[in-house]
Amino acid sequence: MRIGLGGIWQETNTFVPEPTTLEHFRRYQFFTGGELVAALRGTGTELGGAIEAAGAHRVTPVGLHFGAALPAGVVERGAFETMLAILNAQARAAPALDGLVLSLHGAMVVDGHPDPEAEVVAALRAVVGDVPIGVSLDYHANVGTDLPRLADVLVGYRSYPHTDMAERGADALAMVVRMARAGRRPQRQLVKLPLLTVPPAQEDAGEPMRTVLAATDELCARPGVWTASALPGFAYADGDRLGFAVYVAADDRAAEAARELAGLVWRRRADFAAPLVAPAAAVAAAARGPAPTVLVDVADNIGGGSPGDGTALLHALAGQRVGGAVAVLWDPAAVDRAHRGTGEHLALAVGGHSDPLLGPPYPAAGRVRRYGPVSYLRTGSYMRGQRVDMGRVAVVADPVGSIVLTENRVVPFDDDHLRAVEVAAPTARAIVAKGAIAWKAAFAQYAGQTVYVRTPGYCPAGLDQLTYRTRPRPLYPLEQDPTWEASVTGQLSTGQPAG
Ligand SMILES: [Zn+2]
Repeated sequence: MRIGLGGIWQETNTFVPEPTTLEHFRRYQFFTGGELVAALRGTGTELGGAIEAAGAHRVTPVGLHFGAALPAGVVERGAFETMLAILNAQARAAPALDGLVLSLHGAMVVDGHPDPEAEVVAALRAVVGDVPIGVSLDYHANVGTDLPRLADVLVGYRSYPHTDMAERGADALAMVVRMARAGRRPQRQLVKLPLLTVPPAQEDAGEPMRTVLAATDELCARPGVWTASALPGFAYADGDRLGFAVYVAADDRAAEAARELAGLVWRRRADFAAPLVAPAAAVAAAARGPAPTVLVDVADNIGGGSPGDGTALLHALAGQRVGGAVAVLWDPAAVDRAHRGTGEHLALAVGGHSDPLLGPPYPAAGRVRRYGPVSYLRTGSYMRGQRVDMGRVAVVADPVGSIVLTENRVVPFDDDHLRAVEVAAPTARAIVAKGAIAWKAAFAQYAGQTVYVRTPGYCPAGLDQLTYRTRPRPLYPLEQDPTWEASVTGQLSTGQPAG
């Protein structure tokens, strides 16, 4: 039995002005044909998990095409169409396939293609015929109504920070093999809720998602249920698919189970509020609190598509003369200037260049360490084994602490990127983390306290900081009195409301 593997993967932030081009995919992950299996085998990715599971199920994984880009602006039409054409050509050229496993994220926004994930499945369906197609989705997928109809099963991550990608890819492959061998498909049901939630409120270990995910697990354990997912969605991908969704695939009564889970989420809707602290108050808390304080620069979340050069917290640290901080800034021009000089000391304005929203630049000054192109392997729980290329780096020992200037954007999914340039985060007074939740995989193990800061950027947790154009209405909490109610009275526990 042969199972084709592929996908097009991006979390699109429609508030980022620059488009995502084919080059962004080529630079991040871009594997075609046999090189896909060789490149992703053994990685903690969805297709890596599917490849591993293929061995256990004694089926042959056939690489088609996988293109992934880091979160950024809307994907250019030509980039998507090129990758879809490669996928189609590979599927046509492959020996007869008995099923497909696709890694599609679910929150990609493409110019001119209103539901790109559904379009990928429909296009491949036309090539491979009526074989089972399983799709793995990110926790932040904004699932539309077509995808669950076109794909035979959807499997969403159940962790945030995302640490279960390989398991979910393995699940998708196992269910595709089961469908192919048994010759039958489960019923499936998506329920879309009129509910918008932000990343800091979506952590798997925090309420209300801990209760929602426990209920999802409880559903999965019921006889006849193949899989269930609770997908909070991505608030920064404006469009008509925006919002929370739940999904169940089961031998029977899938609709009833999905409505039950949706009802639980809806009853907990008020608990998704995210408390935010102003930069000055956050720095004051870092100055007197247990170290290291993680100052979460929520809105400049690189993993959510923000540039990573926002300076709000550097200015706030300097304003209160707090030292001993660690901050990473994406600033290729500053790195270039640092490397062209040879002096031990450096003074230059860093960050805040990408958009006035993220500035003004911060006047960094101090001893400088220069590093040639830095590349490392992630050793933490998040995408372990993935190679990361930071480009050239300059570390300035500024009065506020170590300012790490990088040529490439570096997502704080690990603390290997700091160790690689001899910066010790565990002993810092404060760590500026440009993320929402994913930074926990890097710093939570030794964080003294965490403060979520109301900063400017493209991923603000204050929904009042965003101007939506095409989202559905009503969406709680932006519209306060939606009439929608899940028509359910189920057995799932609603847990304890968050304080
Ligand atoms: Zn995600």
